[in-house]
Amino acid sequence: MSEAQSETLNFQTEAKQLLQLMIHSLYSNREIFLRELISNASDAIDKLRFLSIEDQSLLGDDSEFRIDISFDADAKTLTIFDNGIGMNRDEVIAHLGTIAKSGTAEFLSNLTGDQKSDSQLIGQFGVGFYSAFMVADKVEVCTLSAQGGDGVRWQSTGEDAYSLEVAEGLPRGTQVILHLKDDALDFAEDFRLRNIVIRYSDHIGVPVRMLSQSAPAEEGGEAVVAEFEAVNSAQALWTRSRSEVEDAEYQEFYKHISHDFEEPLAWSHNRVEGKFEYTSLVYVPKRAPFDLYNREVPKGLKLYVQRVFIMDDAEQFLPLYLRFVKGVIDSNDLPLNVSREILQQDDRVTSIRNAVTKRVLSMLEDMAKKDPEQYQLFWDEFGEVLKEGAGEDFANRASLSKLLRFASTHESVESGKKVVGLDQYLERKVEGQDTIYYICAEAYETASRSPHLEIFKERGVEVLVLFDRIDEWLMSSLTDYEDTKFVDVMRGDVILPGEETAKDDDESKDKDEDEHPLVERISAVVGDKVKGVRPSKRLTGSPACLVLSEDAMGIQMRRIMEASGQSMPESKPFFEFNAGHPLVERLENEVDEDRFAELVGVLFDQASLAEGGSLQDPAGYVERLNRLLLELL
Ligand code: ADP
Repeated sequence: MSEAQSETLNFQTEAKQLLQLMIHSLYSNREIFLRELISNASDAIDKLRFLSIEDQSLLGDDSEFRIDISFDADAKTLTIFDNGIGMNRDEVIAHLGTIAKSGTAEFLSNLTGDQKSDSQLIGQFGVGFYSAFMVADKVEVCTLSAQGGDGVRWQSTGEDAYSLEVAEGLPRGTQVILHLKDDALDFAEDFRLRNIVIRYSDHIGVPVRMLSQSAPAEEGGEAVVAEFEAVNSAQALWTRSRSEVEDAEYQEFYKHISHDFEEPLAWSHNRVEGKFEYTSLVYVPKRAPFDLYNREVPKGLKLYVQRVFIMDDAEQFLPLYLRFVKGVIDSNDLPLNVSREILQQDDRVTSIRNAVTKRVLSMLEDMAKKDPEQYQLFWDEFGEVLKEGAGEDFANRASLSKLLRFASTHESVESGKKVVGLDQYLERKVEGQDTIYYICAEAYETASRSPHLEIFKERGVEVLVLFDRIDEWLMSSLTDYEDTKFVDVMRGDVILPGEETAKDDDESKDKDEDEHPLVERISAVVGDKVKGVRPSKRLTGSPACLVLSEDAMGIQMRRIMEASGQSMPESKPFFEFNAGHPLVERLENEVDEDRFAELVGVLFDQASLAEGGSLQDPAGYVERLNRLLLELL
């Protein structure tokens, strides 16, 4: 490719879609393109500063890092220049012509065409370079990599394609030249631009400069030539003391590091002195990213060592279950040439990670206490991820448990809303209750209408209703909260509040009940499918239910294991019948053994359907039911 030759390449499909989305959905807030371009420029400078620690020569004779912003009102252009790392031809194609995030296509398929809901989706994706097309009908990028190769000019009108050509004589770094749309010419006005630049760049550790306004020529004298001067304070935000930084500045800095266009929910900024010295500034976003569950997605904090940027996505400073947290760690002790491998085994890192984890958790606890509504927003977005922590982070289990929120059978709780904390649950215990009751199923409907809840509803005992995919796993490791045991109402022999004291009596009563005349007859029919048959204490409205034994694997876990290809040993449930139910009373009087077996078969299958299980022989069930229905006609 020679300078004269220009080639045209098509945007990757995803890139094109994202570009269109960006242009249309963020329109009402389009000045944020400048924040995005300044962020990219400052990242590019950070990257070069880092590489130059090892190789000074990359800087050539231009070692004063800067971002220059200039405009030409006549030509209707706005230019953002940085003397950072720059890009070679392949990098330009990879970074400006394609979107590398995996899962993007799937994410974009959720677009509705409705600007309002789509712009929320952009929030989950992150704004970026393409936002330039909100204000420009043509964007030109001229860039020269610090690491060698030809200079490149990239141009596009933001439609299907872009052009590339070799560009001679470029300075190191990147110039982004926006050819402003007619309705965006206010971005080529000094006063307006200066205001925005100050707002978006004050917290960045690189000077962002604009031309000083040229003073009018004095009589007979020469006009003063305009020079670039810094418009920001160029002090990295986290290096300032907390009392000096305003909320709006923290919010702006968050948007700079996260490419989010919404405000963060909360943040925590701390300087730690002592054995290890470091500063951490961590944020909780408002919305979960679309790829929160994609294991391959880079996650983690931005790492600086003595204010020098070292790497993005340093994942060693937070546990996996806090992967949604954004922020910065600036360490005074780590070496500048620290690598990911070193981070993995360094004691200092482990100690910082433990401390930062605690900070995040106490920030959340604080939010839950002071602003429950806001905490609810957090929980609705990130609750399931936090549950991973409650299951696996033993050291922080107490504070993580406090943060959990569940749906519940309590009358004040709207259907399916996960709003009940364990402290609140404990406050509502009924007399004699010393356990936390819960039920776990694949869907809220299945769980909340389960026959297992009947006796609890009747007695006004609250039961937590769990139906997230992760819940059964969570409850397999969460055994108690503040010395109160969790009890699965679908398992074992239920002990209702106040019953323990009457245990001796109970046992004798149980004995009597076990000798209920139906036990033997029913066992003869379903004996091979169950561990036992017994009259139920938990049913008030339904005729029968299935009960897991204490140590059996739950339905959810079983499904997950089976889906992953593992064969699970069979575990038989108990079959419990409601001796007071008219259907069961009717059974007792049934003398025809075939009919008896038919009726028991139907009850058994219904019990397994009611808890969301699947039938071994669904066609058999339908046949039996139809035979019974026919008799009614
Ligand atoms: P993001 O910054 O979230 O990765 P962008 O769309 O804003 O997404 O930018 C895509 C990529 O293009 C960046 O990750 C970076 O590699 C490259 N890039 C953008 N602007 C610059 C710049 N000024 N200098 C060097 N590289 C840049």
